[in-house]
Amino acid sequence: MEPAVLARREEKIQVAMIALCGCWGCTLSFLDMDERLLDLLEKVSITRSSLTDIKRIPHQCAIGFIEGGVANEENIETLTHFRENCDILISVGACAVWGGVPAMRNMVSLGECLKEAYIDSPTAPPQSKSVIPCHEDIPRLTSKVYPCHEVVKMDYFIPGCPPDADAIFKVLDDLVNGREVDLPTSLTRYD
Ligand code: SF4
Repeated sequence: MEPAVLARREEKIQVAMIALCGCWGCTLSFLDMDERLLDLLEKVSITRSSLTDIKRIPHQCAIGFIEGGVANEENIETLTHFRENCDILISVGACAVWGGVPAMRNMVSLGECLKEAYIDSPTAPPQSKSVIPCHEDIPRLTSKVYPCHEVVKMDYFIPGCPPDADAIFKVLDDLVNGREVDLPTSLTRYD
């Protein structure tokens, strides 16, 4: 959807956020917009927030913010649901953009990773009690951690770990006011 079309809507612009495999740090950057959030709320309604972690949205939203990468099957289902129900989808932060810290496990096989974490770790219980968790309620891990755009189409990217609140505000402000997104290099971080 073109930003200009978005801005011409008479009703409030519906925004939804969700966290996949990350640390919620990007959500805190969202909150760091502080009082600017109050001004935005005149034009924007936040339908879903990562703070409630409700992984389904009840109706079509204009903008979806995704924090975190894809590390398990539940992440794939959630991301696909957001893609189907958001006109514009934005990767927020290093984990969503390229996998981030969780993607460090891609250097070894999933089996080696789980063995190191649960069996061989110095903090694991004695060998006879060590066990790799496995239960139908625990989402199945994917063999690798993926950035969001390798699973579904993403429309915009805000890098950084986490991105500055100024960067998130700039992208959101551009969209709700019908401008093409233009994130200056001064607000673009790769750490
Ligand atoms: S990008 Fe950084 S701050 Fe954001 S979820 Fe990943 S680790 Fe946390």
